[in-house]
Amino acid sequence: TTPSPNATSDHPLERSLKQYFGYDRFRAGQQEIIEQALSNRDALIVMPTGGGKSLCFQLPALLREGVTVVVSPLIALMQDQVEALQNNGIGATFLNSTVSGAEVRSRSNAILSGETKLLYVAPERLLSENFLQFLMQVRSSVGIAAFAIDEAHCVSEWGHDFRPEYRQMRQLRQKFPQVPMMALTATATQRVRGDIIDQLALAQPYIHVASFDRPNLYYEVRGKNSRTYVEIVKQIQKGGSGIIYCMSRRQVEELAFKLQRDRISALPYHAGLPDKDRSANQTRFIRDDVQVIVATIAFGMGINKPDVRFVIHYDLPRNLEGYYQEAGRAGRDSEPARCTLFLGFGDVKKIEWIIEQKGDEGERRIAYQQLRRVIDYAEGTDCRRTIQLSYFGESFPGNCDNCDNCKETRNIEDRTIEAMKFLSCVARCKERFGTNHIIDVLRGSKKKKVQQYQHEKLSTYGIGRDRTADEWKLLARSLLHQGLMDEATDGYSVLKLNPLSWEVMRRQRKVEMAVPVRPATEGKSDR
Ligand code: ADP
Repeated sequence: TTPSPNATSDHPLERSLKQYFGYDRFRAGQQEIIEQALSNRDALIVMPTGGGKSLCFQLPALLREGVTVVVSPLIALMQDQVEALQNNGIGATFLNSTVSGAEVRSRSNAILSGETKLLYVAPERLLSENFLQFLMQVRSSVGIAAFAIDEAHCVSEWGHDFRPEYRQMRQLRQKFPQVPMMALTATATQRVRGDIIDQLALAQPYIHVASFDRPNLYYEVRGKNSRTYVEIVKQIQKGGSGIIYCMSRRQVEELAFKLQRDRISALPYHAGLPDKDRSANQTRFIRDDVQVIVATIAFGMGINKPDVRFVIHYDLPRNLEGYYQEAGRAGRDSEPARCTLFLGFGDVKKIEWIIEQKGDEGERRIAYQQLRRVIDYAEGTDCRRTIQLSYFGESFPGNCDNCDNCKETRNIEDRTIEAMKFLSCVARCKERFGTNHIIDVLRGSKKKKVQQYQHEKLSTYGIGRDRTADEWKLLARSLLHQGLMDEATDGYSVLKLNPLSWEVMRRQRKVEMAVPVRPATEGKSDR
């Protein structure tokens, strides 16, 4: 782009943005982050994919003395970023297992001579003895300006992509205590955030958490049944590139084959395919040689295709975080895109079976809790955005008008009295139990567990017989999604009260809930 004369900014950072990257304006958050980075403060940056994280360390790297070392786990992504920087005339290079010995030497020399501002490395290499030696050399020659740790959630077992080698990153802090560190991730749960700060030993970091809302994505959940395949074909025929995620390799093969047989341009992608085919299929998808890719979750990390118009989950995802990331591969160009999840009860059983195979009790517990959040999302009647964003600790007012729950006719009903009963029961049970037990108490169950804790003596015992267990469950879910009650996050599902819960109990706050209106049955009969 040619800079237009009247677009020059007075702000020095904006001028640099224009000069190096050709952009006129910072995106939300970028300027503050860059200012903090330039003051040598540690930082934790949480932004959804495509939010513009890279610029937050790239621009400071160009404005500071010395080399900025970027840790990135994905070789393909590393190459892309470095190429893009080089195309902008910026001194950037990478070192990983694909670079030959002679090339490593010439790149190392360029670094030591100060030509290189950004050095990308894979975590395994970073912590090798040789490389640490090299970094010491860099420090005493041109200097190390900063470390940027991309995909920082890889340090956390609570993230969706734990990598043990990330755990050793702590050594960087020990060996280079003066060098500021910026951790970046698109994974937003509180738990993972805390883990990153602890594991990387960030010192009073500047924390920026961007909104995870993707307003251009339409979210919907559909029941999985005999018409599902036809629905998928119809979606494909509307045009545009799409990704269909399946749970197993076999499912991927079968669906891709079926689509091909119906003359739809589709290719499979899963970890069981030979490397050559896998990368060929991926490339063909990115180049629009093929319209649809049918894939396991192995597909997509670091894939930059802005114009994906739909993402279909043919099977239930195992956790909501993963779902958000996968669905989020649609509509990176900010144009409307559709994310459809098919919910089949067989899928729940399948996932439960997989979880049961896990040897470790703790892992099973986490997996079950994560599965439950997915089911809550899929069965929920609240605005889908509200549910997803509440999972990331972000409160969204609801009524997004761009999801099935907001678009379809629903009745908004007042549930204040029921909510008061439910929350009081949580309080009487001393915030030590999960939804099912609370419902048992409310409905006056004779179960052993109720008697064991003498909960039949509570004043809230049996005050909820007028509603079914399912109705109570729906309410409990809605209270959680609306942030009117919390759930302990240590793997056990224990309901907790928060300040808003008390407002409800004191009648200072009304509780409303969306109740779906059953569509007319169109004369069909179940007989
Ligand atoms: P992330 O790492 O958060 O997934 P990227 O850093 O890859 O996102 O940025 C996504 C896209 O947005 C890139 O193409 C990048 O060049 C572009 N971008 C980043 N900041 C700006 C900006 N201030 N103005 C315009 N485009 C930007």
